[in-house]
Amino acid sequence: MQNRLQSSALLEFQEAAANLTNPVLQEWKTRGGKIIGMMYHYIPEEIITAAGMLPYRMRATGSDGTELSESRFTQVNCSLVRHLFDSGMRGNQNFLDGVVSVNNCDHIRRLYDNWKAKIKTPYTHFMSFPKKSGLEQAEAYRGELEGFIRSLVEQFDVDISDEKLRNAIKLHNETRRLQRQLYALRKGDAPPISGAETLTAMVAASCMPREYYNVRLAQLIEDCSKAEPSKNHLARIMVIGGEIDDPNFIAAIESQKGLVVTDLLGYGYRSFAKDVNTHGDPLTALADYQVNERPADPRLFGRTTEERDMYISRLVHDFNIDGVISVRLMQCDHWGFEQVNLTKYLRKKRIPHLALETEYILGSVGQLKTRVQAFVESIVEAKHVNN
Ligand code: SF4
Repeated sequence: MQNRLQSSALLEFQEAAANLTNPVLQEWKTRGGKIIGMMYHYIPEEIITAAGMLPYRMRATGSDGTELSESRFTQVNCSLVRHLFDSGMRGNQNFLDGVVSVNNCDHIRRLYDNWKAKIKTPYTHFMSFPKKSGLEQAEAYRGELEGFIRSLVEQFDVDISDEKLRNAIKLHNETRRLQRQLYALRKGDAPPISGAETLTAMVAASCMPREYYNVRLAQLIEDCSKAEPSKNHLARIMVIGGEIDDPNFIAAIESQKGLVVTDLLGYGYRSFAKDVNTHGDPLTALADYQVNERPADPRLFGRTTEERDMYISRLVHDFNIDGVISVRLMQCDHWGFEQVNLTKYLRKKRIPHLALETEYILGSVGQLKTRVQAFVESIVEAKHVNN
């Protein structure tokens, strides 16, 4: 991937996103710091930070096969969990001191059970995440978070006070504020940073000590202000989907002159759109954020389809979007149903939409590029007719 802007922070983020570990994470480990892997989202990383440990969002970057997961998973399991398990079996995730997970979907549920049985990371913990949003559901999840804190204290002999939780919330809200600032730079006609570079910066947040990351992200934002903007695209694209953590996927879209200027992705907009409340009981605020406040994915019932439609309309307007690309991993039911909803909604709103199915590790990108090229051409043609 060729950088459009000169920034040492961007180079550092690229190294972090392209590998499972990075120099600052290794230094953290060398100094005796603990790292807790979060097997999927809905886990408040602030609790891990408050415990003095590093929250790490688990990925299988660099995996090139799933042979070691074949005995425990089948082809009906999504490729994310198969690659993650294979990566764990090969010892590539041994830098983790612990793993925490939630019942996101049956695939993740099975991954957690198999991980515990075969990979034997020193600490494991599982929480039940509510099916629906709501006040009672947030209260129930608060109880799960209390259990998580108790188990961390027991295992690692750490202190997780309310004051430490409040400080961690402020630190992670600062990340969100900076990330909103980074995204805002892409609203203009000629954004100084590409979509692939932006996803790189977002993924890096999940594998670096947070204070350090915030300083480097602020540097990247400053570097963007000095960058030469270039308008080498034919269409402005929003990408919608789940756990896309590979910037090369976005780069493949952008190679066809569809500039990705915003998204509704797990590593993207959904992770920073709202802050965690800094008033009152911090654990209640963290539970409420996960269950009721942050933009939800299709896993969470109750409010979320209409809410996602609202977010899409807002982002289409604010980022001047020409077309939407939605993406689901094969075998993923949550996002399969969501693509049906999206197709209906975007058709009603007359917003061009391309629905893609992919695998967690990008194979040949030829077919992907051909479909994106045709999509971008159809947008350009439609613009021409309407003018
Ligand atoms: S991609 Fe879908 S099936 Fe796979 S872990 Fe995520 S939600 Fe579950």
